[in-house]
Amino acid sequence: MAILNILEFPDSRLRTLAKPVDAVDDGIRQLVDDMFETMYEAPGIGLAATQVNVHKRVVVMDLSEDRSEPRVFINPELEPLTEEMDQYQEGCLSVPGFYENVDRPQRVKVKALGRDGQPYELIAEGLLAVCIQHECDHLNGKLFVDYLSNLKRDRIKKKLEKLHKQNA
Ligand SMILES: [Zn+2]
Repeated sequence: MAILNILEFPDSRLRTLAKPVDAVDDGIRQLVDDMFETMYEAPGIGLAATQVNVHKRVVVMDLSEDRSEPRVFINPELEPLTEEMDQYQEGCLSVPGFYENVDRPQRVKVKALGRDGQPYELIAEGLLAVCIQHECDHLNGKLFVDYLSNLKRDRIKKKLEKLHKQNA
């Protein structure tokens, strides 16, 4: 397994539209394993392949406190089940250090393939619903800062650009 480099906003590669996975083969399983290691190391609760500069529709997640519930979503498809929105303070490994409120549908149906390539469905609510919507946005080149005002997003962008320059 390997720790992968996480792209940070405003890196333009985060805007790439990820392609569907044709077959869940050893290469994809290796990617999944590396993404879990990268996510746990960060530490984070969700990671999309886009964030590690692999533009395939793969998401990993673990919302447990003790890393006991790894979830894999390959080619995830979402369908909102309600017009009711929930607000949650979101953060992102690609936007380190910033947390902002975002509104999203409260309940979504998720269809995806697992690590074994088998299709499954689930109804997501609460943090799981927030997280899967946030991660699927990544696969479509979208970030949670896109939901904020231009002013807030620009402020975050400038602060991160400054940090990146300092660390270069
Ligand atoms: Zn994110």
